[in-house]
Amino acid sequence: MPRNLAANVRLSMGLVVVAVAALAGCSNTKLPDVQIVSRTEWAGEDDVPMIERFVEHTPERLTVHHAGVVDDGSLTGDEKMRRLFNFSVKQRPWGDVPYHFVIDRTGCIREGRDMKYAPDTNTSYDVNTHICICVNGDLTKQPLLEAQYRSLVYLLVKLAADLDIPNDRIAGHKDYAPGETTCPGVLANYIHNGWLVEDMESVRSGKDFEFRESQYIKPKPTK
Ligand SMILES: [Zn+2]
Repeated sequence: MPRNLAANVRLSMGLVVVAVAALAGCSNTKLPDVQIVSRTEWAGEDDVPMIERFVEHTPERLTVHHAGVVDDGSLTGDEKMRRLFNFSVKQRPWGDVPYHFVIDRTGCIREGRDMKYAPDTNTSYDVNTHICICVNGDLTKQPLLEAQYRSLVYLLVKLAADLDIPNDRIAGHKDYAPGETTCPGVLANYIHNGWLVEDMESVRSGKDFEFRESQYIKPKPTK
């Protein structure tokens, strides 16, 4: 390595150390204790990810989805994950469930795809850099439940801290695929009116937040 380059590398390493130390010293961020059901806890023996179908990526944004399927509560969250896995590898050319995390109707968070791999989608946006979180139910037809919303806020606070992702990189699926999907249903309101980030900031400052209800409004046809 040329001497100048070596010096530059040492200098930037030093800056990284200083920056991390400054963050650790000055940050008052409170991190919620988020319980996540691991993949091995819900997956059946044969539900093994197909690694050859994966694309590695670097997580840089947090993207919120709804399942888009009415959840009447007749299946357990574990069973829904196993069915989603089967659909993903048999009816789609995907290596695993398309999402990195799934939140069921009780607010239970389950781990999906390994975050080092890009997600998958039925729409046409570039999925690289996205960490995808799915909230179960069809949130254009079913209400968003408080337990689900709370888990989503806590999970986003944790992931944003772990992955160093700023608030302006948190969005909904349809923000990346406009005109192709209504996903994440009513959750898009919380993203666009600022409530989601407001509630995340409350959690970061160690305060609780009140759950506010919002109604899904069907978009008007464009023609
Ligand atoms: Zn979606």
